[in-house]
Amino acid sequence: MPELPEVETIRGKLEKYLIGHKITGVESHYKNFEGEGKNLVGGKVKGTRRFGKVLAIELDNGYSVVVHIKLTGQFIYRGSNLKNVPSLSSKVIGGVPGKHTHVTFKLDKGGYLYYNDVRRLGWIKVVKTKDVSEIPFIKKLGPEPFGKLTLDLFRQILSKSSRPIKIVLMDQEKLGGVGNIYANDALWLAKINPRAESKKLGGEEIKTLYEAIHKVLKEGIKYGGSSELAYVTPDGKEGSYQDHTLAYGREGEPCERCHKGIFKKYFLGGRGTYFCPFCQK
Ligand SMILES: [Zn+2]
Repeated sequence: MPELPEVETIRGKLEKYLIGHKITGVESHYKNFEGEGKNLVGGKVKGTRRFGKVLAIELDNGYSVVVHIKLTGQFIYRGSNLKNVPSLSSKVIGGVPGKHTHVTFKLDKGGYLYYNDVRRLGWIKVVKTKDVSEIPFIKKLGPEPFGKLTLDLFRQILSKSSRPIKIVLMDQEKLGGVGNIYANDALWLAKINPRAESKKLGGEEIKTLYEAIHKVLKEGIKYGGSSELAYVTPDGKEGSYQDHTLAYGREGEPCERCHKGIFKKYFLGGRGTYFCPFCQK
């Protein structure tokens, strides 16, 4: 599932392309569309926000569109703010508009914002901007790296759980934005076993992990996110973090740090977990 770096990359591009565009119509046959599309019509985009893995597009008429793309949601923009339109990634199955386009936001100046979602697991809500923070997912969201998370807060969060550290890192109510790819990589970078009991981590380990999380998320943003599954950016391109992962997806490969371990994979909480048995004891 797209995580903080992927959703942040989408947010940045949406902001670049959409600001100043006015929404002139909304066509939706998406089962997970809540609220009235007509409330968006006539509104001009004035900004974008991100809450963990959730995006909000804010209009100047008091309404916002809030979106969780989940596993396969994709936003594709076509219009005058995109110079030299790149060819569409093959991950945009069916193209735009196509058989997986569930929502079309018509924009002024001949622009379009399409929402595709092959597995239809995402959701879109039209709400008053003042009510965005009341959406349950956002209300329950834990503090975010680059946001309200501090080292002290991180220590407190970890000290309250006896679950495996990897599960805690991915719990959106504990920490906002970290998912499977970046949790795997941060734990490898910090030399911590994904199964280690959260509250038993030592002070130095916690600090190292805190820094590792920020580092891998920054790398993710630098590479425009990871296009392992359906993730694409609003210009229709793919990210490249999948070519730079530290541990994620490296089952059977030698560990480049210790040169002794071979990455192993198992499932923890139902998610693929990769670690070096030698340096993440
Ligand atoms: Zn190793």
